[in-house]
Amino acid sequence: MKTKKPKIAIFGAGIAGLTCAYLLKKDGYDVTVYEKRPDVGGRFSVFETEGVYINKGALMYAPKLNPHFASLINELGIESERLTLSRFALIIGDKITGLNNFAMFKSGLFSLFDYLKWLKLKRFIRELDFRLESYDERLEELHQYSLQEFCEKKMGFNKKLIDYIVQPFSSFGYIDPPYIAADHGLFLFAYGDTELRVPIKGMSAVTDELHNKLNGYVKLNTSVKEVKQSKKGGFSVVLEEKGKAALVKKNYDYCIFATGQASLNKIVPGIDFQIPITKTRGLIFEAKCPQFNPYDVLLFSKYNNTHGVHGGEVKRLPDGRSICGIFLYHPKGNVEKVFGKVKILPKVGWSPAITLIPPKSSLRDVLTPIPNLYVVGDFYRLPCIESCVYTAKKVAETIKII
Ligand SMILES: Cc1cc2nc3c(=O)[nH]c(=O)nc-3n(C[C@H](O)[C@H](O)[C@H](O)COP(=O)(O)OP(=O)(O)OC[C@H]3O[C@@H](n4cnc5c(N)ncnc54)[C@H](O)[C@@H]3O)c2cc1C
Repeated sequence: MKTKKPKIAIFGAGIAGLTCAYLLKKDGYDVTVYEKRPDVGGRFSVFETEGVYINKGALMYAPKLNPHFASLINELGIESERLTLSRFALIIGDKITGLNNFAMFKSGLFSLFDYLKWLKLKRFIRELDFRLESYDERLEELHQYSLQEFCEKKMGFNKKLIDYIVQPFSSFGYIDPPYIAADHGLFLFAYGDTELRVPIKGMSAVTDELHNKLNGYVKLNTSVKEVKQSKKGGFSVVLEEKGKAALVKKNYDYCIFATGQASLNKIVPGIDFQIPITKTRGLIFEAKCPQFNPYDVLLFSKYNNTHGVHGGEVKRLPDGRSICGIFLYHPKGNVEKVFGKVKILPKVGWSPAITLIPPKSSLRDVLTPIPNLYVVGDFYRLPCIESCVYTAKKVAETIKII
């Protein structure tokens, strides 16, 4: 640890920015997090009603695929529970099937031949190493083509398997067909083949606990407007506080962007970190839908899907009502066609979903062309919370050894 503490500004109080601040703070660094919204969490926000927690964004993690996130959540002492695949419903037309092997086989949706191909894909996925630090060479090669090409050409999937299996798993971007890089798509599939966990009080329990630990070092309602390298070294930062006309200027030794998918070009000329993203539109509503009672997560196939509902979470109240947090892939999606009469609690609005990295796009790193200016978030190889925690650790380590 150096004698003069460098001053570090982090922009954005989602999981990436807060984790980075927490790690640096633990090592005694002088860190301030600026968040433009009145609350922390970003895509880790949760809606709570009648003791039920519904995630507005990310909802689960897999310790095997997200080891960095899992170790953070354990360190923070956040309670979580296992979500088994039998609690996932795959909905194709009127047919509701548990996502476990047995239910899929028994569903009658696939021939034995189809089912064996699905198992072959799962076996292949199990052999891959998704850890961000180890970089399985096969994944790198798979980045060159799309998930659809991979499933058709290498796995021999027919249209039915693409429509029934590949789309629901990988269509979070609601693009048709799923032109996401094969390695990224396989990572999403791997969620269906490993232990899954959910924080009992929703994902925001993690960012709220990080916020507690950073007590006093997170400034809400404050947007970063401009970052310039100053002549004496370091950065001059322009901040806008909500409701105040005058902009505030501060100087920092390091700047870390954790602003999600927003383009940085307007804030730091010369850096464009924008990655093509998709947007999701969500509704949280109350309904009576006993047909979904055995399930916690719903995934609707796009095949023959005229209602435009993609899927989401469903939780039950003791009196027979359910609270559903559902995403639509069509702006005019009609949830009543699926759930009957609904009472809309909030609309979640458009929010940036999981980054979809198209085939042949370049892989990004936390370093930028400007020394001491870094980016953390869900852009690093795999589009998920693991990338957020991994990049946060990477930047914290880099600053410690400088
Ligand atoms: C519907 C949905 C479901 C998902 N499900 C999963 C899942 O199950 N598993 C998984 O691994 N991932 C999932 N994800 C992805 C995951 O939520 C994100 O990868 C992760 O939360 C991104 O965190 P972040 O900190 O990088 O960005 P964000 O959470 O977007 O945080 C960025 C923060 O920066 C702030 N900000 C932006 N601009 C400025 C500015 N100029 N000044 C100050 N602050 C600024 C924003 O207000 C925000 O709070 C899901 C995402 C969505 C939308």
